[in-house]
Amino acid sequence: MKRDRWLFLFLRAIPCSYSCKHCMFAPSKRFKAMPYDTVVKVIEPFANLSRQEGAPFQNLAVYVGDCALNLDDFPQIAKYLKENKVEGWQSVAADGFRRRSLEDWTSYLQALRQAGTEILEFSLYGKQAIHDWFAGFPGSYASLHRVAKLWQAIGGQVLWSIFVHKRNVKDISDLQNILEEQYGTRGEVAVWEYVGWGAHSDHLRIDQEDLKALDAASQKALAHLKTEKEWVEVLAQKDEPPFEAEPRVIHVSVDRSGEARIPYTTVTQGLDGARAGNIFIERPERILERWESFYKKWANSCPTIADLCHKYGDEDNRRLYSQRSVIRKWCAKWEVQQ
Ligand code: SF4
Repeated sequence: MKRDRWLFLFLRAIPCSYSCKHCMFAPSKRFKAMPYDTVVKVIEPFANLSRQEGAPFQNLAVYVGDCALNLDDFPQIAKYLKENKVEGWQSVAADGFRRRSLEDWTSYLQALRQAGTEILEFSLYGKQAIHDWFAGFPGSYASLHRVAKLWQAIGGQVLWSIFVHKRNVKDISDLQNILEEQYGTRGEVAVWEYVGWGAHSDHLRIDQEDLKALDAASQKALAHLKTEKEWVEVLAQKDEPPFEAEPRVIHVSVDRSGEARIPYTTVTQGLDGARAGNIFIERPERILERWESFYKKWANSCPTIADLCHKYGDEDNRRLYSQRSVIRKWCAKWEVQQ
């Protein structure tokens, strides 16, 4: 076992109000909110295990998806995480929330600041109409800015990611100017991973021609992206598995009935995946043993990068991918044939 391993525990604690076209979690809305006591009941066994000598991981981060602010109990949960030295309270992804009145937002955000949270992270997908369309939630552009400004007003920091796609690429510099004027930052440009719903939104992915609409700093930030043809040239001789058999990060998702699952071993499934056990009736060690054995078997069953490249590389595709995304794209084609 590696000594600096992380466990990322995804709590299916609250359905997300958005349905963003790139969502790597592919969140289901078919579950009920997880009350605070249940949240603690899920986290505690893993937190205790992380402190034991010889534990299969040494660092624990708890993640409620991007929609933590949908949970009325989240300030209490953030306080619990801070007090128990579990990551996930200091900087919180803040999208996917439902509507609240100004009065409710003010008291909610104040409680979150008092719990210790310092940073809220927001994502933009375009100007108002395009953003709302991409997020699948009318009014989301306006509500993100409203919450961000309230958060700043009570002393919190805000971070912005701008996801670049076919329908917003000409608006990126305007969006950056808006952020600079209102928040003193131009945000970070990004494209999404080929995983979860992101695997179904390839038609929105930018190509090399689109890059020309961005300023020099944004082009530099996206310089790691390549077309499939370029990736084929780089990876054709890489005779190694696409995924580490012993990754530094263990991903486990848990719902309110304690059911633990193994996400991201099927490209499109997001937080769903093979069952790893139930944390209310089994020890966390047993769940992680099942995770380990399933994960290793899966990682060893994947073709090598060179094989994926030769069989599935589409040299006519001009869209841009990170290395991880293009490998996931090829794996998705391989999965269909299994
Ligand atoms: S990307 Fe975040 S906000 Fe959007 S649907 Fe997924 S979890 Fe919700």
